[in-house]
Amino acid sequence: MAHLLLVEDDPLVRSALIRALTERGHAVISASAGMPGLTRAVEDRPDLVVLDLGLPDLDGCEVLRMLRAVSTVPVIVATARDDEREIVRALDAGADDYVVKPFGGAQLDARIRAVLRRGRDADDGMPAVAVGGLRVEPAAREATLDGVLLGLTPKEFDLLHYLAVRAGQVVTRRELLTEVWRMAYGGADKTVDVHLSWLRRKLGESAQRPRYLQTVHGVGVKLVDPGP
Ligand code: CA
Repeated sequence: MAHLLLVEDDPLVRSALIRALTERGHAVISASAGMPGLTRAVEDRPDLVVLDLGLPDLDGCEVLRMLRAVSTVPVIVATARDDEREIVRALDAGADDYVVKPFGGAQLDARIRAVLRRGRDADDGMPAVAVGGLRVEPAAREATLDGVLLGLTPKEFDLLHYLAVRAGQVVTRRELLTEVWRMAYGGADKTVDVHLSWLRRKLGESAQRPRYLQTVHGVGVKLVDPGP
């Protein structure tokens, strides 16, 4: 299951794709033009963007270039014709994959899963990290606390892993936004705080009584071994 942003101006295509992707277990938000699509990509931080290249306000490749200036979120572009030049232009502008219209929900879903898997394969070679009673295993994408499996969302896992690898070091919100959310900028530092508070709850602690997750006021957060 992934959080997807669909940028598509044709209302029939949009609703058909939302239905097909939702049926396959994804959470889908959508935009009907380039500018609102960019806003949602920055504010809602989806796992992947499906971007139609033929949009009413901006050229899809232009949208992609603007998005790439601020984000490395995976993008699959949808092109109207099997136009090789258009596809090359989109790939050069930073698209991770493409689909040619008309395409079905099954094909799009398979491409989405393949693009997301490529990102995850990068984790496979990474060693497990242990900090106190916490153990984080990137290959299995699992974390345990005192031997008990933590039910983490993908973003919570990425956040915990990023902090665990840097145990004892202060990590800034900006760095987390850039490295965990792959956002080079964005006003919503609140996203980081919200995820940190969810993670805290799953670790059985609170901001008032922290153990592993220590806030360093005005700077950021660090993950520490709380000791016995
Ligand atoms: Ca279109």
